[in-house]
Formats: sequence, C-alpha cells, structure tokens
Amino acid sequence: MKRILTGDRTTGRLHLGHYVGSLQNRVKLQEEYDTFIILADVQALTTHFERPELINKSIYDVAIDNLSVGLNPNRITMFLQSKIGAIAELTVFYSMLVSVNSLRHNPTIKTEVTQYGYDDLSYGFLGYPVSQAADITFCSADLVPVGEDQLPHIEQARKIVRRFNDLYGNGKIIIKQPDALISNTPRLIGLDGNSKMGKSLGNAIYLSDTSEEVNLKVRSAITDKNRIKRTDPGNPEVCTVSKYHEAFNCSEYQNICEMCRSASIGCAACKTLLSKKINSLLAPFREKRAYYEERKAEVRDIILAGSNRANLIGNETMEVVKKAMSIYM
Ligand code: SF4
Repeated sequence: MKRILTGDRTTGRLHLGHYVGSLQNRVKLQEEYDTFIILADVQALTTHFERPELINKSIYDVAIDNLSVGLNPNRITMFLQSKIGAIAELTVFYSMLVSVNSLRHNPTIKTEVTQYGYDDLSYGFLGYPVSQAADITFCSADLVPVGEDQLPHIEQARKIVRRFNDLYGNGKIIIKQPDALISNTPRLIGLDGNSKMGKSLGNAIYLSDTSEEVNLKVRSAITDKNRIKRTDPGNPEVCTVSKYHEAFNCSEYQNICEMCRSASIGCAACKTLLSKKINSLLAPFREKRAYYEERKAEVRDIILAGSNRANLIGNETMEVVKKAMSIYM
C-alpha cells in the first residue's frame, strides 16, 4: 500500500471549504492508501504563536472534525506534529540545504511579504516550507494530495530531497521523493461571496455548526444583488447560493439555475432548499461528532497511538539519515 500524508493546521474548527477541498477526498483515499494525517500544531505556531491555548484546543476540534466525516481510526494514522522528534530534527537538517532566496519565492511567503513586508515575517514562518518537507518525508510518504495551486510546495520538498540524496546518498536514495496526488476539487467561496471561505473571514459554515446555525448562515448568504423583487429574473452566475447548490445539490443545480433565471423560485425558498441539503450532509457527521465529543479520552488515545506509530517510522528514518550524514558516534 502506498502511503499518503495529509492533514490540517490546528488553528480552529474545520469548515465546509475544508470538506469540499480535502476531507471528502481524504475519506475515499483511506480505502486505497496508508493514510497519515498530521495535526500540524507546530506549523500552527508560525501564525498563531501568541495563542497556544487555541492551538491546543484545536487539536481535539480538528481530530474530531476528521473522525466525524468518516475517517476511520482503525485505518488511518492520525498523529500530532509536536510529538514527532524526527520532524523537528529533519527540519533542522533540511534548513541547511535551502537558500533564503528560494524560500522568498515560495507563493505563500510571497503573499505574506506583499501584505506585511519582511519586518514582521518570522524565521519560523519563512522556513515553514522546510518543515513541510520534513512532515512529508519523515514517514516516507509516496504521495501528498494537493490542489494545483499547492504544487510549488511539493516541488520545494522534492528539491530538498534531491539535494539531500545527492549530497549524502553516495549514489543511493536515502529519502524518498514524494509525488503530488492532484485533486482538482473546486474551492468553495465564502458566504459573503469572497473567493475563499476562511476562519478569519467570518464567512464559513463549520462542520460542527448546528442545523439552526446553518439555516441562519445560509439566510445571510449574498445573492444576485440586482434581483430586487421576487418577480425579477435572477442571475445564478453571480450568486453565492447557486455555487453552493452546485457543490452540495448537484442533481438539482441546473434546474435551480433555470428557475432562478425565470423567476419561478424566490431567493428565500432557494436558500431553504440549500439549507436542507447541507443539513442532510452534516446529519451523519453530527452523530459521529456527538459520540467523540463525549469520549475525548478515546480521541486522545487515537492521536497517541498514531503518534507512536509515526515515531517508530520516524526513528527508523532518522537512523538512516544520520548515518548518511555521518552524525553518529
Ligand atoms: S433564486 Fe437562488 S440562485 Fe437565484 S439569485 Fe436567488 S438565491 Fe441566487
């Protein structure tokens, strides 16, 4: 079985954007791959270092989000990044092999620098692509499920691995070069029409939202602003609600677009239909969530067992790595 590495930063609860973009696919992939799920609490520190209590609480939130959508704890290895010594060690070793200039060209770093400049950019944030390479390679992951836009991150990791093997491999492959497993899932826009659904943007429906919360949020979603009266024909192309129908009510999507254009459905009714669809998607997740929320000790055991397995593999990796680098006595 090939191994995949995927996961989430522990900076808060996961939302429908995460579900559409990654979790949904993750549930399918666990059937085919040895699935490693990283709860990236160290990476969370790169942006949330002043809020350690949030990161700590989010470990459970993110773990339960994953379990509630159908990740099977008997199939997957869910582990906590900060518990894996090999990741920390590899990050240090890899950091010698990456130039500051190449990090500056990383798209995420570039965006951050454009917004805030270099003065406030921490050494930890600048180096997060290096630690990401360590996350992927400590467990010899074959594949990393990503969208097209994240390909530069995988290429960065591959570059580091090639450099490492060239320098220390003496003709052998010491570290496995990971490949991207491209999933072209569309990005879910925010309820406010923003191109991204984000925790910090306040435009998200969370996997943990109650049906009442979902109803309220869907009611607040931005529609076609030019549709003033119920009798005005609408334009689904510019409506957030229609995009959600496309994602969560695929079979009725075309019909809804036609009804919108002919003004045979009003926005309130259209939103009610959508709320029902989203709530029926979330209903089984809510049941599983309730189970795990009442059994936090079980969630903790799942994470600890996963971390133990990950550590056994990581320790083996480090033995080979250190030997190749002549770091031993
Ligand atoms: S009817 Fe539906 S798709 Fe059309 S503008 Fe209203 S909410 Fe949007």
